[in-house]
Amino acid sequence: MSKIVFFCIPAYGHTNPTLNVVRELTARGHQVWYYSYEAFRERIEAAGAVFISCDGYGPEQSLSPEDTARVGRDLAFSMQILVDTTLALDAKVCSDMARLKPDCIVADSMAVWGKAAAMKLGIPFVSSTTTFAFNRYSSKIMPQSPGQMLKMLLALPKSSRLIRRLRDKGYPVKNVLDILQNDASTHTIVYTSPEFQPCAETFSDRYAFVGPSVRPAAEEIRKTRDILIYISMGTVVNDLLPFYRDCIAAFSDMDCQVILSVGRLVPPEALGTLPDHISVFQSVDQIAVLEKADLFLSHCGMNSVNESLYFGVPLVMYPQTSEQQGVAERVSQLEAGLKLKRADPASISEAVRKILSEPKYRRNACRIAESFRKCLGAKGAADKILQVCRGERSAVSP
Ligand code: UDP
Repeated sequence: MSKIVFFCIPAYGHTNPTLNVVRELTARGHQVWYYSYEAFRERIEAAGAVFISCDGYGPEQSLSPEDTARVGRDLAFSMQILVDTTLALDAKVCSDMARLKPDCIVADSMAVWGKAAAMKLGIPFVSSTTTFAFNRYSSKIMPQSPGQMLKMLLALPKSSRLIRRLRDKGYPVKNVLDILQNDASTHTIVYTSPEFQPCAETFSDRYAFVGPSVRPAAEEIRKTRDILIYISMGTVVNDLLPFYRDCIAAFSDMDCQVILSVGRLVPPEALGTLPDHISVFQSVDQIAVLEKADLFLSHCGMNSVNESLYFGVPLVMYPQTSEQQGVAERVSQLEAGLKLKRADPASISEAVRKILSEPKYRRNACRIAESFRKCLGAKGAADKILQVCRGERSAVSP
């Protein structure tokens, strides 16, 4: 029996794909502990792990929606939060690890305190990557703007100070990339298929592309018209009332059913009285909706795109962050969706009509769905983790 410790940030998109892996490991009789935040306790315990709370350690769980959005754009700001959280958890994690003596640490690529602890304590490590895997080839899909490059350069002196704080506490990190990035030698689980991952052939055999981990639908959605359009901007950067109003204007005269999920920050009443074929919710069972949908108008969070393509649903894409830009770019390359040229009713309507009238978009989305279904899934991820626990060099190939 192996002992495995997971670490994750407080985000559904990063936590959800790991839960089937935890379920698989515990079902095989292995012991799993999971460092996360109170809001996620129930699902983590339901998957069979022992939950360990990180609440109250560092700023990670108390970020405002604005700060959460800033994390993806501002290197100095994200480094500050990641290092503060690592140092705040330092004493607890080190004493817990001395007691638990895990065979392996599995940490989300953003939960750098997990990777840092593995480095400091010499524990075998697996990175859990819910976005695309990045190296110098695949990162070309997400080019930084000149403004972002400048911000990164300006952030370097501050980042060096943060790295020194980590070194003073015994973390053997040389630079920012040591903890933020994986290299060819890092065992890495990626929750997509090699066909959807850009430049998959440039990654070492330590990378296991296990495919998306899509949970079953919990309810059934009633389709009331021939065409069902689903709109969601995810759970993080979704305070986009003007955009939702443009969507409603674009679809008010179209013969289709529209389900719009606006998130917790926008009260549905703010959208006024709606025609019968448009329904607005703060949250929906996205899987249940995608099972029936003909098109998804999405912000291109990796999970939403994986889920959409899993059901062969083509996308109209309105990415908000550079990571989402990268995902949207890949979907465009594979012609399974179209990026919005502008966020106004005419452009939304034009993109939607194009996707619905040209069968190639659905065909290509279905092709990616097939590649997902060929992947090894949570079983493959669990095999990979157990190989690392046993100290085996080889990795699971998809
Ligand atoms: N989601 C959901 N209902 C909603 C909106 C989103 O269940 O009304 C789920 C969706 O299925 C996905 C996750 O929330 O698994 C969003 O993750 P993603 O990576 O797409 O975006 P993020 O929220 O991290 O920006």
